[in-house]
Amino acid sequence: MPGKQQRQVLETIGDRCAALWNAVQYRCRQAFFKGEPVPSYAALCSEFKEHPAYRALPAHIGQEVIKKARKAWDSFFACLRLYRKGELERPPRIPRYWKDRRTGKRTFCVIPVKAPTSYALDSRTLSLTLPRDLREKHGGRLVLHTKGVLRFHGTPKTLELKYDRVKKRWYAHQVVEVPEPARKTRPEKYAALDLGARVLAALAVEGLDRQILFSGREVWKDFLYWTKQIAEEQSRLNQAGRKTSRQLRRLYQVRTRRLKHAFVALAAEIARILKQHRVTTLFLEDLTGIREDMDFGPKNLLVHNFWAVRQLRNLIEAACTRAGIRVVPVEPRGTSSRCAVCGSPVKRPARYKVVCERCGCVWHADANAALNILLWGSSKGHGAEATPLKPLALRWDRHRWVSRFESAAGTLYATSGSRMAARAA
Ligand SMILES: [Zn+2]
Repeated sequence: MPGKQQRQVLETIGDRCAALWNAVQYRCRQAFFKGEPVPSYAALCSEFKEHPAYRALPAHIGQEVIKKARKAWDSFFACLRLYRKGELERPPRIPRYWKDRRTGKRTFCVIPVKAPTSYALDSRTLSLTLPRDLREKHGGRLVLHTKGVLRFHGTPKTLELKYDRVKKRWYAHQVVEVPEPARKTRPEKYAALDLGARVLAALAVEGLDRQILFSGREVWKDFLYWTKQIAEEQSRLNQAGRKTSRQLRRLYQVRTRRLKHAFVALAAEIARILKQHRVTTLFLEDLTGIREDMDFGPKNLLVHNFWAVRQLRNLIEAACTRAGIRVVPVEPRGTSSRCAVCGSPVKRPARYKVVCERCGCVWHADANAALNILLWGSSKGHGAEATPLKPLALRWDRHRWVSRFESAAGTLYATSGSRMAARAA
């Protein structure tokens, strides 16, 4: 929360970072276009040691800008290799300058700081080493008030100050090295998760006779609502002969954040359930077979679905790892085409339903799939589980994941008895 003067200081430092970034990119791009090798980080550091743009910044910021600029090339070359192997649809673009595309003017966006020797961050303040020429005027260091929660505790590493042009606010992103969570030696217990779009996640836990389904309905409904808002703003802009606006960027940001909110909460809820049931290993189906489940909603939703499910997968993996639960990816192997009770092929009269003719079971398709992954993963044969009970469906109420019949105030996935108790309370 910088004050007015502090904002100007941040903008000055940000602009100097952009100047150095652009100088480094110019050097690299020239080398690339001439067919010469792009200089390494070490080579760039010694080349730019006396450069005025580098000298105008504290060493810990200057070095980090060069490192970041060089990393952009690493990632460009990595993408280029993937593209040549046919694993990317479009060729990657070479690293760009930090400038406004419309006006061509240089813009600041990030101030990277290498190590905590040049900054200090606690829950209230962030202090920063200033460039030499600004020190006297501003009393040595820049001390900013901050708002937020420090979620992770460990060894602090690099810090990035980012300016959000839509919100017109500065944000600090800190890397913290957290020690690997100690995994207690507990008896192995397994769970399995099947990911999709209609049902975002279907969870089967060993020893639990009901599977838990996380419905995607409300999440996508909300996503489509904001998509519609975006389309309306775009048509307004078209009529005015413009391409973009701050309002449009804001709408995109809101849509992304609301989707992510639901996903982060889902991942946390799964980690919580697994911990509660003392699960040690989670089998997570790989995403290769997922596209069939996604052909619903307007056409452009399909692309979003694919990226969204991948993001959800990463969030779940991270949440489980933090909770000390091992995550094992599982190849999809016809998990939805066999009955989890007897193993014989099933019929699928509706998308969400599978029927086994041999044992007469009627399953929710995703619950069946999750249980199949669990049986396969824990290498237990079919027939181990009893007849399927109706799975427990959770929906997103825009704050948390609740059972379909519960209000937001109730406890999550309580049994009917304790749900009544919660109601009465
Ligand atoms: Zn069966």
